[in-house]
Amino acid sequence: MGVSILQTAAFINGEFSESETGASFPVFNPANGKEITRVADCSARDAERAIDAAAAAFKGWAHETADVRAAVLKKWRSAILEREEDLAALLSTEMGKPMAEALGEIRYGASYVEWFAEEARRVYGEVIPNASPSARTIVLKQPVGVCAAITPWNFPNAMLMRKAAAALAAGCTMVAKPAEDTPLSALAVAALAKEVGVPEGVFNVVPTSKPAGVGEVLATHPKVRKISFTGSTGVGRLLLKQASATVKKASMELGGNAPFIVFKDADFDAAIDGVMASKYRNGGQTCVCANRIFVHDSIVAEFSKKLAERVKNLRVGAGNETGVDIGPLINRTAIEKVERLVDNAVKDGAKCIVGGSRHEAGELFFQPTVLTDVLNQSEIAQSEIFGPVATIIPFSTEDEAIQYANETIYGLAAYIYTRDLGRAWRVGEALEYGMVGVNEGVISSAAAPFGGVKQSGMGREGSKYGLDDYLEIKYLCMGGL
Ligand code: NAD
Repeated sequence: MGVSILQTAAFINGEFSESETGASFPVFNPANGKEITRVADCSARDAERAIDAAAAAFKGWAHETADVRAAVLKKWRSAILEREEDLAALLSTEMGKPMAEALGEIRYGASYVEWFAEEARRVYGEVIPNASPSARTIVLKQPVGVCAAITPWNFPNAMLMRKAAAALAAGCTMVAKPAEDTPLSALAVAALAKEVGVPEGVFNVVPTSKPAGVGEVLATHPKVRKISFTGSTGVGRLLLKQASATVKKASMELGGNAPFIVFKDADFDAAIDGVMASKYRNGGQTCVCANRIFVHDSIVAEFSKKLAERVKNLRVGAGNETGVDIGPLINRTAIEKVERLVDNAVKDGAKCIVGGSRHEAGELFFQPTVLTDVLNQSEIAQSEIFGPVATIIPFSTEDEAIQYANETIYGLAAYIYTRDLGRAWRVGEALEYGMVGVNEGVISSAAAPFGGVKQSGMGREGSKYGLDDYLEIKYLCMGGL
């Protein structure tokens, strides 16, 4: 059986406790609008309490051996996988994604815990030759200290796990603030952390309906040494500004506007599969989602037709219904934004060849949609759509495709489909993005450095680089030898 994963209180210093004011806020199921439960609404004071707990726990946790930290993380991972069905059901209920995708997310999140448990043992230093024969230059890596994590609703488990696992593996402690739409998945993994013996104060979760207040405490508190944020570019900018007052380290995983370029020499069917996976996963609510699909003008008509046929067959419904591909959008603001972008694009001359409006499944459901004849400078092409809407933009030359792709403030993920090896290298190098999928529509993995350039952020998560983001470099000059 194990502990209950449905927790509604804040998790501070190893205990679930109400917020100091006793306030709570509702969490809704986006598929039917029903309240699931109420969750402790943490105040700035609760955030300070959590930071104090994390600061008190830091010394002990940092001094544990890497083996001890790895063992704790492995137990956490096992507990998560033992309860994967329950965690996936909870995630799907609060966020809306289909059960199969929710289960995939739990496993994906757990893969970061496994990865960083292993990487914890590989925090190597260095000895650099010194100019003096009687001195040695030694480089150490040490945990940064108390870290704050602010995470989004679109991957409520995985976005948290890839921060928490890296932080804890490095010897840092953490205060996490989950998104107000999806706090339950974070509290659920906190319950499992407690069950497997993550020491008090090492991992804390402070849900709140008022992210600006708690966020400001996390970004400005002198005891917090690093802030790791995943979310929109606008909030990222604000947090960077706030964090500058105490010169914190910062990792920012921000918005994206991924180009998906299909050259005329591409494997046509593989490219269609790639768009389906990259665009329609999570209802189009992923930061690495294909946002603009550039197709060579010699094949664009056929490509659009084939894509529309596939999209027509996508099943829309609540995440817990069998065979569903597309769940609801997260909230009213989200669906209104998608609707407005599509309406404006059509007014501006785009053609809607499938979908185009809300879906009868419920208030927050949008029809899987394909728009053709979209302009790269249009509002829809320059915004993160965050919905099940593919926009197709024709291009004629390789240089034009590169130019279009780079015409955005974002630089997270990009995709190219081509069978020409030279072109794959040329275009891959010319794209101003942190990640490029070549003949691959799904590129995230615990072993790979995930992150963006330009206004998509800074820092990397996953891989050996993800651990570096939670480590400081210290240099000892050993003299008198
Ligand atoms: P958001 O920026 O509105 O919210 C993200 C988090 O920030 C939430 O926890 C929210 O409560 C918090 N927040 C909101 N206002 C805040 C404030 N004033 N101070 C402190 N915290 C605040 O973004 P969202 O709508 O939840 O998520 C979607 C965005 O996240 C998209 O832009 C998407 O691309 C991005 N995202 C990026 C990645 C990545 O790895 N680069 C991954 C997933 C999502």
